[in-house]
Amino acid sequence: MKNTENEIITSVKELFNKQDKKFVIIPHENPDGDAIGSAVGLGEVLKNQGNNVTVISPNNYPDFIKWFASPVEIIIYNNNKNKAKKLMESAEVLVCVDFNEAKRAGKLEKQILKFEGPKILIDHHPNPSNFPDFLISEPKYSSTAELIFDVLEKTKLKKHINKNAAEAFYTGIMTDTGSFSHNISNPNTFKVIAELMSLGIETDKIHSNVYNNYSANRMKLLGYCLNNKMEVFPDLRTAFISITKKELENFDYEPGDTEGFVNYPLSINNIVFTALFIEKEDFVKASFRSKGDFPANEFSNKHFEGGGHLNAAGGESKLSLNKTIEKFKQLIGQYNHQLNDTKI
Ligand code: 5GP
Ligand code: MN
Repeated sequence: MKNTENEIITSVKELFNKQDKKFVIIPHENPDGDAIGSAVGLGEVLKNQGNNVTVISPNNYPDFIKWFASPVEIIIYNNNKNKAKKLMESAEVLVCVDFNEAKRAGKLEKQILKFEGPKILIDHHPNPSNFPDFLISEPKYSSTAELIFDVLEKTKLKKHINKNAAEAFYTGIMTDTGSFSHNISNPNTFKVIAELMSLGIETDKIHSNVYNNYSANRMKLLGYCLNNKMEVFPDLRTAFISITKKELENFDYEPGDTEGFVNYPLSINNIVFTALFIEKEDFVKASFRSKGDFPANEFSNKHFEGGGHLNAAGGESKLSLNKTIEKFKQLIGQYNHQLNDTKI
């Protein structure tokens, strides 16, 4: 943990080692495996320490991360606004996980900003904003889950990591690294995994729960996208997929169904940059993935009001889907040299 001052760890240790405190943990909007795994794992540990913990997710999240054994309660803000607001009002400590700016918590942004108790942020995205009182931001980590494991070690709460928490943390690391295929720059990731495995988690089962969990419609939507909606620009080493609202409806879309679709074109020989554009109610959601040193996060930040990691980023466009696609095609032309110079 190179970026985090000892004083911050000391303060967080004091807060985490209390008992009978009311904690609320918040992951980012459209939470992924790392966001939910981190929130549930940390929640489980704080509960085992004798605290009252609730996770509030800004919106619903996919079924493939709904199987955790942990009894930590997860409230979905969109479905239960009053209960979530009351919980935020009575909570004594707020912990935000896996995001770097309050607006990434969607409709919970205001509640977070006006929260009066101590606010802790534990995250691995670059360039965090200064909304928390205690910031633990370590972009070198594969995942927030791996980082939380180390924070728990430093704050003397590692003893409370049980099998439920280990399962949640393992899911976070596995999903943010594409099953240990990227984002791992450091042996620490495998050291943490080894410790989690020693707690008796069933890694085959976890993998299967997350990845072998497609509905037939989701699998057909993937096939349709790859066959009909993918455009490849070999000279620019770029490929993208776009999906309209109508197409999603045709395949009985459920939240999370398009998760991971942006990665598929990266498997094409020599492609270094991919995008996925999804038409939503009043905007277009963009996802970007890259290889080597092509900065997906800078691209997203500059042109799509977004951000993320070097090789995995997201953002949005207020233009129509067609105009967004046009804009993207023009932009990749401008990035011709950078794309062709990218070493993989
Ligand atoms: P995904 O493409 O899976 O939605 O997101 C990939 C990465 O980009 C994640 O690390 C996520 O936190 C980040 N990201 C996704 N959407 C946005 C966005 O709208 N704004 C910012 N700042 N980051 C995003
Ligand atoms: Mn993450």
